[in-house]
Amino acid sequence: MTTDAPRRSEAADWRIDSWQSRVATQQPNYPDASALQATLGKLSRLPPLVTSWEVDALRTHLADAQAGRAFVLQGGDCAESFADCTPDIITNRLKVLLQMSLVLVHGLSTRVVRLGRFAGQYAKPRSADLETRDGVTLPSYRGDLVNAPEFTPEARIPDPRRLIEGHANSAMTINFVRGLVDGGFADLHHPEYWNLSWMPHSPLAKAYRERVESIGRSLRFMETLAGQEIHEFNRVDFYTSHEALLLYYEQAQTRLVPRKPGHYNLSTHFPWIGLRTADLDGAHVEYMRGIRNPVGVKVGPGVSPDGLRALCDRLDPTHEPGRLTLISRMGSDKIAEGLPPLIEAVRDRPVLWMADPMHGNTISTGNGLKTRPFERIQAELLSAFEVHQAHGSRLGGVHLELTGEDVTECTGGARQLSETDLERAYRSNVDPRLNYEQALEMALTIVDRCGT
Ligand code: PEP
Ligand code: MN
Repeated sequence: MTTDAPRRSEAADWRIDSWQSRVATQQPNYPDASALQATLGKLSRLPPLVTSWEVDALRTHLADAQAGRAFVLQGGDCAESFADCTPDIITNRLKVLLQMSLVLVHGLSTRVVRLGRFAGQYAKPRSADLETRDGVTLPSYRGDLVNAPEFTPEARIPDPRRLIEGHANSAMTINFVRGLVDGGFADLHHPEYWNLSWMPHSPLAKAYRERVESIGRSLRFMETLAGQEIHEFNRVDFYTSHEALLLYYEQAQTRLVPRKPGHYNLSTHFPWIGLRTADLDGAHVEYMRGIRNPVGVKVGPGVSPDGLRALCDRLDPTHEPGRLTLISRMGSDKIAEGLPPLIEAVRDRPVLWMADPMHGNTISTGNGLKTRPFERIQAELLSAFEVHQAHGSRLGGVHLELTGEDVTECTGGARQLSETDLERAYRSNVDPRLNYEQALEMALTIVDRCGT
């Protein structure tokens, strides 16, 4: 692990491990400290998953979104799992994100920055340390990076070998995504590559097909004028993101890069701080303030205007464009009241506001399943657009939990999924995700609201 003296851009009192003298919540209790240290040593010598050039490029794209020149689409699983590191699941998720971004590019007439919640979204914060079922109490599942979801004492023991497995699965995922994108899978000339087998039967198929045809006509028109194929449309960029929760893992992937100022977290382009770990004086904020990556923070209804300003001062003291993204997740019933004072509080700063309409709208069904009504998610998203507009601010992106699979985890949407439908294909180990169709419907909602 690198512990050089701080470089020019770093605060004098920040070190790669200075977070260790703060309170770090949501960390696993590893039973064998020496096994953990050996694993971290190995992890810190493995190649990084992303490069500093990509991280810097993303910061510039996020600055563009702040300035109103792009819209950010961030999406993926609540919790990736090692078992889902398969070509089909990765490709289907990519297809949905590409379809959604096509709808947004076309409907908003703007560039779209694509940010996956993938290739590292393996660690989960939990509201309770313990879980009880039928009178048996065990440690909670904290994501595949920590332990396993099965409800047995062995599965729930935190195992440091999972840190290496998580890194390997992230590398396989990002390698496959890069290969697909570079090979032409994301070519706007070929949106048929992204068709999902169940699409023809979808109630949304017509609206989507119309957009695809219209974008095809525009492309042909522009290329006729240019007299050649426009290669910018042949590929798109994909960036990765995950919640930076397990700080030993993040530290081991944090590196100094030749000829660049400061440390980069090279396990992902865009790490974010979750709601439960956004304490101003806690370890997560301490770690994140010192890295060069653009960073996100979830902002919930409990955050005060002064608290938010203090967080912004800590994470972005120099007001650097693209550095800080605030992701509001208020709940559809709280956003209209809760968001305006927060917008006011940071008006003089170059923050990018995004909306996560998922996490404030989780409820339990009579059968004890966690779900999110599509209508509430949609209502929070629409309110976010409205509130920003009414306060002279701009919503620059959306953060969604979604999958390319035909799951039934959120109720409602075009197919009007009911609570009974949830039992048919509920696969998430943690939070309920939009399925491919509900995700596409959310993109159509955005362009209906804001489209040109
Ligand atoms: C999440 O994004 O999966 C999550 C746990 O969100 P939050 O921190 O906003 O609750
Ligand atoms: Mn979640």
